Amino acid sequence: MDLAIAGKWALVCGASRGLGLGCTQALAYEGVNVFMVARRSDVLESAAAELRAQLGPKSAVQVVTCAQDITTEAGRAAVFASHADFDIVITNAGGPPTGNFRDWDRADWIRAVDANMLTPIALIQATVDGMAARGYGRIINITSSAVKAPIDTLGLSNGARSGLTGFVAGLARSPIAAQGVTVNNLLPGAFDTDRLKNIFQTASQKNGQEVEAIAAQRRKGIPAQRFGLPDEFGAVCAFLCSPLAGYITGQNILMDGGAYAGTF
Ligand code: NAD
Repeated sequence: MDLAIAGKWALVCGASRGLGLGCTQALAYEGVNVFMVARRSDVLESAAAELRAQLGPKSAVQVVTCAQDITTEAGRAAVFASHADFDIVITNAGGPPTGNFRDWDRADWIRAVDANMLTPIALIQATVDGMAARGYGRIINITSSAVKAPIDTLGLSNGARSGLTGFVAGLARSPIAAQGVTVNNLLPGAFDTDRLKNIFQTASQKNGQEVEAIAAQRRKGIPAQRFGLPDEFGAVCAFLCSPLAGYITGQNILMDGGAYAGTF
């Protein structure tokens, strides 16, 4: 299937590792120029170098890096000063820590809302009207299965991401829908990334169980009996960025190996 997105420009946030890197790679393999943002320059540069090597010297795909904290105004300004007019925007940032809501204060909530709700909205605000004026745009927010099936210890994530989900539901159905712009959320269940490993490590430190035992228990609760792969996540993201997915907007697409047990 030709996704017909070669030559477009994608802004991918949290692009140096995990799901963001999976999306970056899938888009680049389809010929999309990728503008990769992550905080740590060393990790980002090595991910970009590996991708350029995989694409090969004859590839026309441009792989650009920008080491910034996307949750700050300065970070976003640096991104847009370096490149504007993105056709595709993948919003993503690290998830908030797990914990007990009784321990969280206002600063914890503001950090979570900033990273997982207001940052995606600011990125959309900076790009969506240009997309609509040019007649093509794809916005994908990486959120979480916790939006659909909240996890008690991920209260900061449940709350902040639900706010973003409500906002996107309205925006996607606004006049931009008739101007070639789609806005969707991709909801990862358990994917094999550093984030998941950190969650298991935190749980292990708390309850003394081996990390592998915690992981095995989690796998057992997933009908697919395994964690998802960033490549699988990236492939769905690339499809949603294609003109072929132009009739899909305002959706929350769950990728969880069947873990969510509802009919819908
Ligand atoms: P990860 O920790 O493996 O990678 C996160 C990436 O984002 C890294 O490249 C990191 O450098 C970058 N990043 C983090 N904060 C940033 C910031 N402020 N500015 C720029 N870049 C930043 O995480 P992941 O597993 O790929 O998860 C991506 C998102 O999906 C997170 O929000 C996470 O909470 C959510 N999620 C992941 C899972 C899972 O199982 N992996 C499940 C549900 C939700």
